[in-house]
Amino acid sequence: MGQMTVIAIIILLVIIYSSAPLYIPFIENKINKINKKFDYRASKDARDFHSTLFIIDLHADSLFSCRSLLQSNSRCHVDIPRLIKGNVKLQVFATPTLIPFNPNIERNTKKFAISGFLAFMMHWPINTWYSKKNRALYQSNKLHEIQLKSKNTFEIIKTSNQLENYFKRCRAETNITAGLLALEGAYIIDNINDDIDELYNQGFRIIGIAHLTDCNLGGSVHGVEKGGLTESGRKAIKRIEELNMIIDLAHASSKLIEDVLRICSRPVIVSHTGVKGCLNNNRNLSDQQIKKIADKGGLIGIGFWETAVGINGVESIVNCIKYVSDLVGVEHVALGSDFDGAVTTPFDATGMVHITEELLEQGFSKKNIRMIMGENALNFLLNALPKEFN
Ligand SMILES: [Zn+2]
Repeated sequence: MGQMTVIAIIILLVIIYSSAPLYIPFIENKINKINKKFDYRASKDARDFHSTLFIIDLHADSLFSCRSLLQSNSRCHVDIPRLIKGNVKLQVFATPTLIPFNPNIERNTKKFAISGFLAFMMHWPINTWYSKKNRALYQSNKLHEIQLKSKNTFEIIKTSNQLENYFKRCRAETNITAGLLALEGAYIIDNINDDIDELYNQGFRIIGIAHLTDCNLGGSVHGVEKGGLTESGRKAIKRIEELNMIIDLAHASSKLIEDVLRICSRPVIVSHTGVKGCLNNNRNLSDQQIKKIADKGGLIGIGFWETAVGINGVESIVNCIKYVSDLVGVEHVALGSDFDGAVTTPFDATGMVHITEELLEQGFSKKNIRMIMGENALNFLLNALPKEFN
């Protein structure tokens, strides 16, 4: 490469970098859209009932952005004020670290990862441009900073004792919310015990083994090989369980799901998914997989976007919830929006009431609605999380 070409590339990168704040918010908003076609208005009855629920959402990628989550934004799906407005009491914040170029649900290679470039464009610290691990830690630090600056309106849940106290606190206070840290794709786990221990110490409590590409520990359903659990994967499962962390099988290949369910001794979650019974595609769980996960006491978070559940907005979401409830019992169903996960959803975090309303409309009992909207996830987490954390 000639000297002039190098200089030209550097100048181009400087221009891209310095002008990024002008167009990144626009792009971010474009890939995390709300489908305006669904202009829902909730009834007073639905709103009144909704305000009594303890709502948990098992998956949002909102930390992978450059906007402040402390202020209410008009773009994308989630921030602290909007979680409070939607009565979401606990949001699982996932941290993706490896994103392939032009991701799809069928087959992604690791060759052209763009996550470092995205970190560069979002003006994240330099050490996140070249390190997957630093990208995870940066997102975790971001959530801790939100906690610090939130004036007690937001806390990160790390233990079951803390969750129990927070649940009690929610009975007296309305304008609060909480978060739980999850890793989406275990691409940063090399030295099994050391790396998992570090994630635990940083506050991570859910480990998603695969994301959009195959991982050293096991295959992704969107990967090239789509393999099962590797030797390192087996060791990782053991360590994750020893620490009372939770395994997330969202994005896992069918071999990986089978292998994990064969050896795990604790229930797992699939944090954000659809089901083949409602929408048959490579992304979604089969009836047999749902049954096996439920047999182990697992929890299935139903997604809010089209590739997961279908094109009819909240009706599609609730159809999917109903399908899983009928198949394995309502106690295995939870919410897994995938807000801010490069998806279009029928509403943002303020619109959770529309699910409550549609559940009422489709004839679910109030008791079952409470379970689906959060109690199932609450009980799951109370059992699964470590009691204390020093
Ligand atoms: Zn995902």
